[in-house]
Amino acid sequence: MSNLSHEGAIEGSKKLLDNEKDDQLNKEVETRTEKDDCDPVGRILEGFHRFKTTKFDKYPELYRELAEGQSPKFLVFACSDSRVSPSHVLDFQPGEAFMVRNIANLVPAFNQLRYSGVGATIEYAVVTLEVENILVIGHSRCGGIERLMTLPEDGSTANDFVDDWVKIGLPAKAKVKAEFGHLPLPEQIHKYMSNLSHEGAIEGSKKLLDNEKDDQLNKEVEAKIEKDDCDPVGRILDGFHRFKTTRFDKYPELYRELAKGQSPKFLVFACSDSRVSPSHVLDFQPGEAFMVRNIANLVPAFNQLRYSGVGATIEYAVATLEVENILVIGHSRCGGIKRLMTHPEDGSTANDFVDDWVKIGLPAKAKVKAEFGDLPLCEQIHKCEKEAVNLSLINLQTYPYVQERMAEGAIALRGGYFDFVKGCFQLWEVKSTVTPPISTCCK
Ligand SMILES: [Zn+2]
Ligand SMILES: [Zn+2]
Repeated sequence: MSNLSHEGAIEGSKKLLDNEKDDQLNKEVETRTEKDDCDPVGRILEGFHRFKTTKFDKYPELYRELAEGQSPKFLVFACSDSRVSPSHVLDFQPGEAFMVRNIANLVPAFNQLRYSGVGATIEYAVVTLEVENILVIGHSRCGGIERLMTLPEDGSTANDFVDDWVKIGLPAKAKVKAEFGHLPLPEQIHKYMSNLSHEGAIEGSKKLLDNEKDDQLNKEVEAKIEKDDCDPVGRILDGFHRFKTTRFDKYPELYRELAKGQSPKFLVFACSDSRVSPSHVLDFQPGEAFMVRNIANLVPAFNQLRYSGVGATIEYAVATLEVENILVIGHSRCGGIKRLMTHPEDGSTANDFVDDWVKIGLPAKAKVKAEFGDLPLCEQIHKCEKEAVNLSLINLQTYPYVQERMAEGAIALRGGYFDFVKGCFQLWEVKSTVTPPISTCCK
C-alpha cells in the first residue's frame, strides 16, 4: 500500500510544484522527483532555496519583524502525520501559530512526571507568549487513533511507546464504544473525531479570497502582527478555505493518493516556535515529512516512563512508516535554548514544565560552557542551539529501531540549523561508520 501511494504522491507533488512560478526551480524539482530515489540532501537544500527566494528575500520587513520576537495568536496541536501540516491545512503563516505535533494530536492531562514535553509547550505558549487561542486538530484516517481503537482489551502492548502514548485517548475510546459500539470499526474511528468537525461551518463560509494569494497573505500577516484585530474563528475558516481552493480542490489526484496512506521519506524534529515551520522553511509538501514539534526540538534518550510522546513518534515513523531520513532542525533565537542556558545552576526551577523539559539539553549546555564559557552569553546560546541538535542526534541512536536501520544503512541522520536573522540554513550529517569485524565467531 505504501509503495503505491508513494508513487502517486510523487506524481502529485510534481504537479503541485509545476504550478508554481519559478521554472528553474521546477526543473530541479522534476529531476529530483523523476529519479524516485530522492536525494534527501538535495531535497532539503532545494526546499530551503525555494523558501529563501519566494518568502524570506521577498518580504524582508516581515522577517525583520519576526526576528525581533514571536507573538503568535494560536497554540495549535496537530498530528505528526505528513498529510496534515497546519501550515498547509489552515495556511498558517510564519509567526502566526506556535505548534505542537505528536501522534494523534493528543493533549494529556497535567502530569509533570510523564508529560513534560506537552506541558512545556502549553506553559510556554500560554504563560510566556500569552496566546489567545488554543486549537486541537484531529484528522481522518489517523494511524494513532486507529491503534487506540484496536488496542487489545487485555492491556497487552505490542510496542515500546505507541500504545502507551495513544492510551491518553482511552476515555474518548470508551465514550465512542458506549455510544457507537454497534457501528463498523472504521465508523467508530471516525466518530472519535467528529465532534471537532467544522465541515458544515467551513462549507458555509462565504468569504472569497484573492487568488493572487502570496502578496495578499503576507500583507495580511504583517497587518495582523501590527494590529490586534484578529478574528480567530474567521482566520481558521479563511485559512482552510485557502487551502481547499488553492490546493485540495486543485490537485485531486495528489490528495486521493494521500488519502490511501502516507509514506513520508523524512521524520523531522523542529521547534514549536511559530517562525520555523518546516512546511515553510524547507517547503515540505503534504506527504513528505512526518513532523514532531516541541520546545527547542529536543529528542530525549530512550525513556518509556518519561518521554513516551517523542518515543511514539520515532517508533511509528521508523518501525511502521520506515522513513529513510531523520532531520533535527535547530534555529536562531530559540526561547527554549535560552532558558536552558540561563536557568539556575542550583537545580531550582521557576516553572512547572519548561525547565524540566529543556534539561534534556544539559549535556549540550555543559559542552558549550566548557568550550565557550568565556564568550558573551548570547554567543553561548547561539552555540548551544546547534550543540543541542547534535545531542538529539546522539539520543536518537538510543532507540533500537533507529540503531537497527542505521546498521542496515537504511536510515540517515542529519542536523540542520535555520537562522532566520540571516536567512541561512546549515545542514550536517551523522556519519555512522561500521568498522570491519574486530573478531569473528563462527559455530
Ligand atoms: Zn494522525
Ligand atoms: Zn525554539
